[in-house]
Amino acid sequence: MKILRFDGGRIGVSDGKKVVDVSELCGSGPGDWPPVGINRLIRDFDALRPKLEALLAAQAGVPVDSVRLETPIPWPNKLMAYPVNYHDHAKEMASRGLADVQGYFLKSNSSLVGPADHIELPALTGREVHHECEIALIIGKEGRQILPERALEHVFGYACLLDMTVRGKEERVFRKSYDTFTPVGPWITTADEVPDPTDIGMKLWVNGELRQSANTRDLIVSVRNMIAIASSASTLYPGDIIATGTPAGVAKVVPGDTVSIEVDRVGKMALQVVQGTRGFNVVFEKPYEFVRHS
Ligand code: MN
Repeated sequence: MKILRFDGGRIGVSDGKKVVDVSELCGSGPGDWPPVGINRLIRDFDALRPKLEALLAAQAGVPVDSVRLETPIPWPNKLMAYPVNYHDHAKEMASRGLADVQGYFLKSNSSLVGPADHIELPALTGREVHHECEIALIIGKEGRQILPERALEHVFGYACLLDMTVRGKEERVFRKSYDTFTPVGPWITTADEVPDPTDIGMKLWVNGELRQSANTRDLIVSVRNMIAIASSASTLYPGDIIATGTPAGVAKVVPGDTVSIEVDRVGKMALQVVQGTRGFNVVFEKPYEFVRHS
């Protein structure tokens, strides 16, 4: 099943073709602030699932392409991310900061946008903004110090995620937290539809040209171990998002580009890149030249 948000904060379920509005069942909808109805839906999903499935089967709904899809979890407790988590990306960055020696970092929740939004480049000169193709893990069940062998019990589902990044040497959280720098979508596909998290393929195109392609079998830190490591420090809550890292092929985007991402059995989305007028600050005054290693 796909769980999604659409048309100003409505909550829907989908089979990938139609959308059935379940906002009322979730006691949530447009105007909610903070918009955490979907967090509660994820927490209560096991109890709600029979009702949601019955509604999806019984109601005609509306075609998925007739609604405006929004980022599925706009207000998570945490948006966590693993750094260099594929060896080929470590090589191109000449990085020794692998995920298994660095652990996780955080991005600002306010960087989240959805599949119908734009990626807005900040007004910075002498800086490149790169795409990073990633899979989002969505946490379903609260937990702390979760054992790797029980980690999948805490996974609610998966989504496509773009970890947009200003290249440079400044704080990673600052370079990756600009508004619109974390597109997630087009929905959350529940974990039962992704039977093997050690074999999920993903691809990213810019203007139709393939730039990144990988499979979770090549992860340095596996899905199970990412959950174990993150939860050793921080309690994970329903709706938390973990960006699982990007493979080789990161590169600059420019205004007018269309960035497309597809994750096997999960879905695909395409976002336009536009130039913003805000974002300048003294920290990014100094130019930075990105050099790819091979
Ligand atoms: Mn990343």
